[in-house]
Amino acid sequence: MTEASTYDFLIVGAGLFGAVFAREMTDAGYRCLVIDKRSHIAGNVYTNNINGIQVHQYGAHIFHTNDETVWNYVNRFAEFNDYEHRVEVNYQGETYSFPVNLKTFQQIWGIETEEEAEKKLEEIQQQNVGSDLESWSLNQVGTELYERFIKGYTEKQWGKQASDLPSAIIKRIPVRTTADDRYFNDKYQGIPINGYTAMVEAMLAGVKIGLNADFFDPDQQWDKHADRIVFTGAIDAFYKYKYGALEYRSLRFEHELLEQNEFQNRAVVNYTEAEIPYTRIIEHKHFNPTPSDYTVITREYPQAWNTENEAYYPIRDARNLERYNAYKKLAESQPNYIFGGRLAEYRYYDMHQVIASALSKSKKVINELKKTSRDV
Ligand code: UDP
Repeated sequence: MTEASTYDFLIVGAGLFGAVFAREMTDAGYRCLVIDKRSHIAGNVYTNNINGIQVHQYGAHIFHTNDETVWNYVNRFAEFNDYEHRVEVNYQGETYSFPVNLKTFQQIWGIETEEEAEKKLEEIQQQNVGSDLESWSLNQVGTELYERFIKGYTEKQWGKQASDLPSAIIKRIPVRTTADDRYFNDKYQGIPINGYTAMVEAMLAGVKIGLNADFFDPDQQWDKHADRIVFTGAIDAFYKYKYGALEYRSLRFEHELLEQNEFQNRAVVNYTEAEIPYTRIIEHKHFNPTPSDYTVITREYPQAWNTENEAYYPIRDARNLERYNAYKKLAESQPNYIFGGRLAEYRYYDMHQVIASALSKSKKVINELKKTSRDV
């Protein structure tokens, strides 16, 4: 530790990575300062209480994991309900059960049994060689389901042709012939009853937090406050786009408070046709049934990313990954800078993966610090 530093760690970003890292370091006896450029904690999992409804301000966040350690970890900070995500697709005014399951086969082809659905699936699956999202999807579900559920949604979501996108994006979505119509397969699923903001607040208990604090503000010199910096923002921005900007996809959220009990019968309906500019409508009260004469809905519009708006999704194609690897290499040569989270690791992470990453990174750093202090 240098004499001048007040903190051992400056953690930039009060989202899940920053909060978990701060919790672990604080519990291990290190002094942490967490800053965030926004006026609130919790990053993109931030929930805002509107008329008693926990509104997911930056899009729907449903917690799901098979990792018992991560599940036990989050349950230390919040009480979860047993919400299981079930989505409907709206395509040209017709609704379908999604991801593809027995009900979908029933709705489209009148198929009633798993055996018949399996047979149908084999019949419609194609044999393409490409590894892009389009070829992979056609191999999985054939043309009709691809056109109805995937092509339009994917191309508006990512602003690229499905044939130019990596299939990894869609591999998280199951294809089933059983009656299981849940969006996720994971063993543990739920939503924090009091919202994600309260959960992150509990993670950050006893940690010094600075809001409306921009790490890049030249008047502040935030990096002088601590010996080590944990950065959870975009790694290319941290290095001033030295190797060029990485590509992201951005989103715009349109929230609406309606004076009616219910807008749709579930939390999320996906609008898969290309002509509708939004990808989904979220009705927040279904995440945690709330008796209220009001409801809040959110339309999610994908949009081009530029350095002025929010980066949400990394576009992990070959060109961007090559650039990212150059940044990563640079970061690895500077051990006092630690990068973690969706933007800093340029990964299409879910919440549980961010938490697992923060837990493993903090453990590693604690071990290294202990070793260094032993060696001195
Ligand atoms: N997807 C699709 N149709 C849908 C829902 C998802 O084609 O109705 C594809 C799309 O390419 C999307 C990907 O599956 O980007 C992952 O979807 P998910 O709902 O997991 O996206 P997220 O919630 O992370 O935006």
